[in-house]
Amino acid sequence: MTATRTEDLMPFDDVLEAYDPALGLEVHVELNTASKMFCGCPAVFGGEPNAGVCPTCLGLPGAMPVVNGKAVESAIRIGLALNCDIAEWCRFARKNYFYPDMPKNFQTSQYDEPICFDGYMDVDVDGETYRVEIERAHMEEDTGKSLHVGGSTGRIHGADYSLVDYNRAGIPLIEIVTRPILGAGEKAPAVARAYVAQLRELIVALGVSEARMDQGNLRADVNLSLSPKGSGTLGTRTETKNVNSFRSVERAVRYEMQRHAAILSGGGSILQETRHWHEDTGITTSGREKSDAEDYRYFPEPDLVPVAPSREWVEELRGTLPENPTVRRARLQAEWGFSDMEMRDTIGAGALGLVEQTIAEGAAPQAARKWWLGELARRSNEDGVDLVDLPITPADVARIQALVDEKVVNDKLARQVFEGVLAGEGTPDEVVDKRGLAVVSDDGALGAAVDNAIAANPDVADKIRDGKVAAAGALIGAVMKEMRGQADAGRVRELILEKLS
Ligand SMILES: [Zn+2]
Repeated sequence: MTATRTEDLMPFDDVLEAYDPALGLEVHVELNTASKMFCGCPAVFGGEPNAGVCPTCLGLPGAMPVVNGKAVESAIRIGLALNCDIAEWCRFARKNYFYPDMPKNFQTSQYDEPICFDGYMDVDVDGETYRVEIERAHMEEDTGKSLHVGGSTGRIHGADYSLVDYNRAGIPLIEIVTRPILGAGEKAPAVARAYVAQLRELIVALGVSEARMDQGNLRADVNLSLSPKGSGTLGTRTETKNVNSFRSVERAVRYEMQRHAAILSGGGSILQETRHWHEDTGITTSGREKSDAEDYRYFPEPDLVPVAPSREWVEELRGTLPENPTVRRARLQAEWGFSDMEMRDTIGAGALGLVEQTIAEGAAPQAARKWWLGELARRSNEDGVDLVDLPITPADVARIQALVDEKVVNDKLARQVFEGVLAGEGTPDEVVDKRGLAVVSDDGALGAAVDNAIAANPDVADKIRDGKVAAAGALIGAVMKEMRGQADAGRVRELILEKLS
């Protein structure tokens, strides 16, 4: 298996001439319950390896699992928020496979009786709404984590030995599976991205997971197939695993569309397989072949009682749901006074929640939007990370805007404060201190610089004396240059006019 050979790609526009894409998304959400799915171990990944384990999550003989009630509650709330039906009665199933990160040699999951089914989510892309149908959302447990030591790539090939950490084994997961998403055409990559972004926002609003994609709390697998344009059939699909940012979801869909099209148009056929996304090179490579009829020998879990949530409980949980996302967006737009275009761009950038939190921290709506969609969006593009994963908080952004409002820094210097915070130099105030960024509004220092500027530009000074006040800009520019941008421009203007009147 060659690891990173770039395959032939068809130009994106040509793909759309000849093919219709069908998308499917499987998203795993790691719940933030205190304990694991079937035992009392802490549901915390990380820390001392294999410290958070017990006979149940290690699959030792005779250990008996018990369902985590809080995880069932979270599953139902996710299902209700996705407009799903909630099963009156459902069971767990054993999904049998042999792999060292699953100590029981089966994963306790749900098979033909998911707790949530037949839902949908309306996704906004560029002002249009796409209804993504949810086939199911079911409960399962996470696996442990293998660590391959000695190789250069971190993969098992070339490693001297492997270690397994079972701290993560048994952490509750909800897997949310869409039906094929058809008819998105050229918007397919954007719809995939928007779906995952909106789903994350919903999960955050529900408070059931940390939902950090870069931490693996939320993991997306992207299914894609192409069919000849207008044929109405479904082509053979590939499944790209663990794509861990919104932008990567979009890029992976686009890449697979172009790759499939190149193969199909050359008379080839698509191999049904899992593929790996490579963030650095922006390509997918072959994983393992996978057939629909993969035999996991599912059977109902005999050690767990069925889950039968009462209708009263389901209705009680429905009462705890956050505001409907469509209603919420309309409310926020009205509160913030954003134009349709501003709102669309904010949603498209995955910045809705960030802007909302920044406003909650005291920033004006337009200022919050300006920073997240300007300076920070630029930075997230450059670094290839989602906005939400940048090392800066909404509170930091609000504080930097406050520093601008208080005239401690101007807009230009504020950009340097952002740079410092993103570089890990501390809080906005610490960055201003350490870098000496505060603007000078002290008349003594400014007055000297103003005098220098007047002396160096006598013709400009004469014009101002003659009443051509607009000429002051040239002197202000000279002062700013001398003060390396750190002068209070308003006060400089006042001083120039005072001295020359
Ligand atoms: Zn345990």
